[in-house]
Amino acid sequence: MEDKLQIYNTLTRRVEKFVPNEPGKVAMYTCGPTVYHFAHIGNLRSYLMEDILEKTLRYIGYDVKRVMNITDVGHLSSDADTGEDKMIAGAKREHKTVMEIAKFYTDAFFEDCRKLNIKTPDVVEPATNCIDEFIHMIEVLLEKGYAYRAGENVYFDTSKLKEYYVLTNHSEESLLEGVRDDVDVDLNKKNKNDFVLWFTKSKFEDQALKWDSPWGVGYPGWHIECSCISMKHLGEYMDIHCGGVDNIFPHHTNEIAQSESYLGHKWCNYWFHVHHLNDKSGKMSKSKGAFLTVSVLEENGYDPLVYRLFCEQSHYRKPLEFSYEVMDQVKSAYEKLRRRISGLSAEGEVDAEAFARYRGEFEDALCSDLNTASAITVLYDMLKADISEATKRALAASFDEVLGLSLTEPLPETAGGADDELTAWVEEMITKRAEAKKAKDFATADAIRAELLARGVQIKDTREGVVWELVSQN
Ligand code: AMP
Ligand code: ZN
Repeated sequence: MEDKLQIYNTLTRRVEKFVPNEPGKVAMYTCGPTVYHFAHIGNLRSYLMEDILEKTLRYIGYDVKRVMNITDVGHLSSDADTGEDKMIAGAKREHKTVMEIAKFYTDAFFEDCRKLNIKTPDVVEPATNCIDEFIHMIEVLLEKGYAYRAGENVYFDTSKLKEYYVLTNHSEESLLEGVRDDVDVDLNKKNKNDFVLWFTKSKFEDQALKWDSPWGVGYPGWHIECSCISMKHLGEYMDIHCGGVDNIFPHHTNEIAQSESYLGHKWCNYWFHVHHLNDKSGKMSKSKGAFLTVSVLEENGYDPLVYRLFCEQSHYRKPLEFSYEVMDQVKSAYEKLRRRISGLSAEGEVDAEAFARYRGEFEDALCSDLNTASAITVLYDMLKADISEATKRALAASFDEVLGLSLTEPLPETAGGADDELTAWVEEMITKRAEAKKAKDFATADAIRAELLARGVQIKDTREGVVWELVSQN
């Protein structure tokens, strides 16, 4: 098969052709959630776009094996190894054990993913399953001289590397500012960017999860988890590693440092990072207190797939600002799209030439650094084209393998779905109103708007045209 995906690689800082180590096969790894709280919709933007990447790879013919960890130990409140373990903080907050917290929020995470049509990776491995693997890797790093013991912890020695900042071209100082959200400096470290591979109880007396190790009873650092879990399931060579942009430093930088020191060769060729979802006050984060979850969106009347479309309409490498105004527009557009597609007849012949042509255009959009917004434009163009309904329906079903918007399923009535008769009437009224406005007959245009509202239909004029939704009539 032909390698045709062009993708931005954080390692080389340019868009390049994706060529896996083994032809036709992709070894893919995703940093999983830290399960001390619900995922916010920012976290889920990262998992959504990684899902699009995986599905694109499959769509263009690769056999993908995707692995994800669950961080249930070792991720401290600052990414630079200081502060309390996030899991313990979660357990204290809810008066539960760490394992109860991990189970509850792992299940909640996959439930959110299910609602967003995010496929579960082929392998999901909690960090607490792999303690022996972590200990083995740390032993080898100590033997090879890349690690040292200090204050009863084991640290990775970044000064042993020819190049540590492979993923960033920032200066050391500016990188540290983003990471150190406290002033707790660890005096055991020989170099300021050294990081912990193994903590012992000497550092945190109240650590709930502890294991025996050659260096005393303790627990692993966060970074070592992803190196070991990916190698356990994908071997010594990986094609593509994913995460949000905040993972670039220090997490992924440290993963590369320890993995390549352990292996003695290059480890992963492509690094894929999704930019952040922001709210008006900046990056959405769990530590900020109140944050937006899938359940909050549902409580506010949004199908989670409206959020999926919201994310797909912008590029994964750009920051995205969340707003309910835009969500409202996307909601109307989404419902209209789904009504239109689920109403298409599957009867009759599929035009093979048209199918191949539009499928090709759709693939080209995705292969151009995952341009999901262009892929959606191809969907709209296709729906407007002069081809049979059966062809349109087949193409929509095919595109949905990547877009994951349940496009061919009818809208459930409870989600505000309108029957076909009402839809046809509303469309007719919208057309009449447009004609009235064109003729400068604003009185008629306003009367039509009022008539629609009287039947519970609210219309809005947007740049994309008129959108409408059902509103309650009390
Ligand atoms: P965590 O559960 O904190 O380990 O984060 C899970 C994933 O969400 C990681 O890949 C982070 O990089 C990513 N992430 C965190 N905050 C955001 C955000 N505001 N927007 C997008 N991705 C994020
Ligand atoms: Zn990771």
